[in-house]
Amino acid sequence: MKKLLLLLLIIIIWYTNLVKAQPGKTSITKWQYDRTGAVSITWDDGSINQFKVALPILNRLQLKSTFFIITGQIPGSQYHGRFIGRPVKDIINETATVPTNKTNFYERASAAGYLGLIGPLDYHYQAGSLIDAGKPNEAYKVIDDCYSKVRKGEFKPGIQHNTEYTDAHGTTWADIKKYAAQGHEFASHMITHPRLAALDETNMLYELEKSRLDVLHHLGVRYTFSAEGPFGTENERVVAYASKIYPALRNRMPEPWLKEISRSNPATPGNTNKEYVQFQRGATTQTPLPVMKSWVDTTLNRKDTWLVLTHHGVDGIGWEALSHQELDEYFTYIKNHENKLWVASFGDVAKYMRERQSAKVQSIIKSGTVTVTISHPLNKTMYNLPLTLKTYLPANWKSAIITQGNTSKTTQVATDALGTYVLYQAYPNSIPVILISR
Ligand SMILES: [Zn+2]
Repeated sequence: MKKLLLLLLIIIIWYTNLVKAQPGKTSITKWQYDRTGAVSITWDDGSINQFKVALPILNRLQLKSTFFIITGQIPGSQYHGRFIGRPVKDIINETATVPTNKTNFYERASAAGYLGLIGPLDYHYQAGSLIDAGKPNEAYKVIDDCYSKVRKGEFKPGIQHNTEYTDAHGTTWADIKKYAAQGHEFASHMITHPRLAALDETNMLYELEKSRLDVLHHLGVRYTFSAEGPFGTENERVVAYASKIYPALRNRMPEPWLKEISRSNPATPGNTNKEYVQFQRGATTQTPLPVMKSWVDTTLNRKDTWLVLTHHGVDGIGWEALSHQELDEYFTYIKNHENKLWVASFGDVAKYMRERQSAKVQSIIKSGTVTVTISHPLNKTMYNLPLTLKTYLPANWKSAIITQGNTSKTTQVATDALGTYVLYQAYPNSIPVILISR
């Protein structure tokens, strides 16, 4: 009997040691600061109350967010809406004899907003939304209808802009620079807020590339990381072009390790074998605050979820405008869970996940010193976000002095089921991190 008990004791000790982590063992935590999930508050269109009303709320709560801005309407931008192609007169004349089809549709839909008439721009939007919905034949009919009216002289002459474009009036690059310095991300939402899926290659690339150039010129390369094609388009042709120009689109982020739930998809994160879930939700005026809060709760109750909130109007200006009272209460709710949620810009969360998924971490422990190196093969200009590392330490360490380059910090150890560990921030592709006992 005694022998049996002894054997059992040996097995227990052996097993306990087996499940303990080896000192030096280092991993990148799933989310920054070892939080449970991530939240990105994003804004489309740059309507003026986003800056006058919502931004001060975010600053008061010290939350950083992402603004997708329409660059063509900002004073001082080099690039403005235009049609690149044949003289529009030739296009109009041709519509009299050649019905709209697969070949000529994109040229006609691209030119519609630039005929010098009030009205055809609406047909551009309608046709684009039909392309987005996978109904090309209906889109061709809309364009036929538009040009038939053009030929009959049914539209008044004039310059027409869409509402998103005009609602954004009032912001300057100087203002935007100031907000960016406060820690917010700014990113392209194109020059004129077009239906990209209805544009031909030349005009689509003009919107994508030249909008990026104005952002680059006025804000710098860091702000050319993210972008959002208007109307949340998931059109494959658009995404193929846009993802060559911008590393991270809010529209689509095809990654083998990411489950995507777009804002038009009513699904909840559910079961998945993917490492991460991007859970996009866009509150409208019809969305009760408890529902908006439940998205945060869903994120809190999982470990793999990145909640991406898409906001538009504020206090009567912009699409589906929410009130400042509602936004204040909602953002305060998010802020109150910041100990568990990493609230960061769209670009920073995308960078964190990609850096973590591609990084290699190595650690060696030698005469009381742990040396950790972290590197990844991604573009080093864009992917330079520090990551949170978790290193297990010998059980007798009480705190650790953690040094990477010129930065040194003393951190208390913590314990979990696997042993004693420390959490710290480290820059990838830099010099090794040195941990010593204190
Ligand atoms: Zn938009």
